[in-house]
Amino acid sequence: MSFFDGIPVAPPIEVFHKNKLYLEETAPVKVNLTIGAYRTEEGQPWVLPVVHETEVEIANDTSLNHEYLPVLGHEGFRKAATELVLGEDSPAIKEGRSFGVQCLSGTGALRAGAEFLAHVCNMKTVYVSNPTWGNHKLVFKKAGFTAVNDYTFWDYDNKRVHIEKLLADLEGAPEKSVIILHGCAHNPTGMDPTQDQWKQICEVIKKKNLFTFFDIAYQGFASGDPAADAWAIRYFVEQGMEMVVSQSFAKNFGLYNERVGNLTVVVNNPAVIAGFQSQMSLVIRANWSNPPAHGARIVHKVLTTPARREQWNQSIQAMSSRIKQMRAALLNKLTELQTPGTWGHITQQIGMFSYTGLTTAQVDHLISTHKVFLLSDGRINICGLNTKNVDYVAKAIDETVRA
Ligand code: PMP
Repeated sequence: MSFFDGIPVAPPIEVFHKNKLYLEETAPVKVNLTIGAYRTEEGQPWVLPVVHETEVEIANDTSLNHEYLPVLGHEGFRKAATELVLGEDSPAIKEGRSFGVQCLSGTGALRAGAEFLAHVCNMKTVYVSNPTWGNHKLVFKKAGFTAVNDYTFWDYDNKRVHIEKLLADLEGAPEKSVIILHGCAHNPTGMDPTQDQWKQICEVIKKKNLFTFFDIAYQGFASGDPAADAWAIRYFVEQGMEMVVSQSFAKNFGLYNERVGNLTVVVNNPAVIAGFQSQMSLVIRANWSNPPAHGARIVHKVLTTPARREQWNQSIQAMSSRIKQMRAALLNKLTELQTPGTWGHITQQIGMFSYTGLTTAQVDHLISTHKVFLLSDGRINICGLNTKNVDYVAKAIDETVRA
């Protein structure tokens, strides 16, 4: 007898499973379009030069040590992260109505925010976009949400944001429901609402007394400009919305495994902050107790040193423009091959991903026949493309849709 008899084997986490299949593949030509991580033209991970320089400096700084950080995290990092997303001249910052909480990357910020809302504010209903990032539902379920619902986001026929259904679904959500919105570069569709559509979304959320939970994991990746990518969040703040915002520094700093994240909180009444922070301290105390310092020190130094920040800006521009070039190259080749179907969405979509519209059967064919690995919903990581493999991928897609 074991305490663990009968534990069912859970299904694998698709993105990591597909990545593993790619690594194990022995065919001489193979392409990895699965995991959401940046790759260089040479297909390699990229340590941003400014991150490396800052790391070396931190390692040589004998005034630093490995003492615990406070439960809510590194003060300077929390402030810098909050300013990055809200903008330094945000009314919420000026009026003392906002603060940051350092978390374990974007996932940790989602989890801490979700637990806080479920257990401290008794909010138990959440709506996520359909489709959404594979982890949203799991995080909210495990954090104690009892109703995890969808709102329509994607118009599969016309490959656009289905704004009419989206608004209707939000209209139908019960009061105090938590609405998860992707701040920019929606994962997996790569398509964001227009500014006008964001205004309509904000209006419904306000009118129906719903709660805004922004998730921004790609600030800077969408347009190359972090301020432009935070437009929707800043607009909601201007409209006087209360919210929490989970921020990840995995992608825009290339700090995937350092788990650097922040939960930015915006409230209407500064008097609630003391209670909020004390309850949040208990949520975090019971989870990871206090966060790791290394990545937070890097992000803090880079964001608060003008020359370094400029270097960082250049790096995110380099990443986002390489992605745009690869989108154009893929579309060009498909157009040249006269691949059946419409493909213009590849360059209309932004950020790391393209939601290709390929079916699960076509995905299976691409993997088995061409060794091009992608997710079963047809999502590809554009960063996996480079000038050497993009024609191969386009030809593989062409053969697949004609098969
Ligand atoms: N939200 C979304 C929409 C994401 O795509 C990701 C990363 N894949 C995250 C949050 C969080 O990632 P991490 O925990 O690595 O910061």
